[in-house]
Amino acid sequence: MDYSAVLNKSVSGGKLDVSEIAVLLSPPDKECEKALFDAAYKCKCELLGRVVNLRGLIEFSNICTRDCYYCGIRKSNTVPCRYTMSINEIVHAAELAGVYGYGSVVLQSGERSDAGFVDFVEEAVRRIAELPYELGITLSCGEETLETYRRWRRAGATRYLLRIESSSEKIFSRIHPAESSFAERKAALKRLQQADFQTGSGVMIGLPEQSVEDLAADIIFFRETDLDMIGMGPYIPQEDTPMGKEFPDREGDAVKRLELALRMIAVTRLVIPDVNIAATTALQAIDPVSGRERGILAGANVIMPNVGDVSHRKDYQLYNGKPGLDENSRAIRQKLVESLAAIGETPRFDGTGDPLHYFKRTKKI
Ligand code: SAM
Repeated sequence: MDYSAVLNKSVSGGKLDVSEIAVLLSPPDKECEKALFDAAYKCKCELLGRVVNLRGLIEFSNICTRDCYYCGIRKSNTVPCRYTMSINEIVHAAELAGVYGYGSVVLQSGERSDAGFVDFVEEAVRRIAELPYELGITLSCGEETLETYRRWRRAGATRYLLRIESSSEKIFSRIHPAESSFAERKAALKRLQQADFQTGSGVMIGLPEQSVEDLAADIIFFRETDLDMIGMGPYIPQEDTPMGKEFPDREGDAVKRLELALRMIAVTRLVIPDVNIAATTALQAIDPVSGRERGILAGANVIMPNVGDVSHRKDYQLYNGKPGLDENSRAIRQKLVESLAAIGETPRFDGTGDPLHYFKRTKKI
């Protein structure tokens, strides 16, 4: 299949099938790759502007009941010191996001479903919603019942991120223990939509034995699941995990995964133009100088700078090389504003930056 022909089909709104998406993900040379990034960036700018939405990230607890084989905070890892921020600390971090004009916060944690945790998150959301800022509230706390999702939605959260990790059941089962169910993960995404959350998901890119066809199928999954937000990034080994031990990185692996992740962002932007796509921290972990900015230039429109206290940062290391471990949130903001200006992008200060796709999906516009 001719690369330019497939790219043109996608730019002019043609619906691509899985093999055409696989072609787009595999540009034969640097010129074709540049054409892909340029087309995706143009699509982002025309539809969403040269504006980046900012979400203040609060990693409020690393206590987790799951044992995902790739994750640095999995329950069997003894390395991190386990912590949960107090509600006051969480609200203080959200206030900082408000003061910084971020317009939105993301509360992320390990996964728990006990009643104490459900009440705790509900209370944290309620307290943030009462702050005198127009702050969008996103949660990323894992699989829960419909009732829990509804309670958190009623408390004031509007968005939820729950990665499928891989839309291939075969890969999903290889990277999770038996108690994690692929069907249950997919059902949880449906429950989020039922609870009227702006619903986000995503995958890890460059997993062992993952093919370009698997990644193309991931993009079809995003489209068919009618997601509003996509958060995906390169898989990065964490040395204490079973996967990190079994498949340690070889020279050049990380850069290849970063490049593949940038192509995934670009192709996703072309296939589903109106979704929010995050330039995730994992891009920055591999390319600390310009990873996230390259994500924006490939078509992403969201960045999630950390607003949590530095004291917990080292205990929330999902993978090796987490950036900004000792950088306070003010310094992070300053650097981000400068690096976005350098690529001609403006951070959206204030305004929650909701995904267009949600309003179309729910027929609210
Ligand atoms: N517990 C919540 C959940 O299950 O959705 C959110 C927290 S979880 C730690 C957030 C995300 O980190 C995961 O969905 C996974 O994609 C990502 N992650 C974990 N380990 C990673 C690794 N080694 N490399 C890249 N991403 C990783």
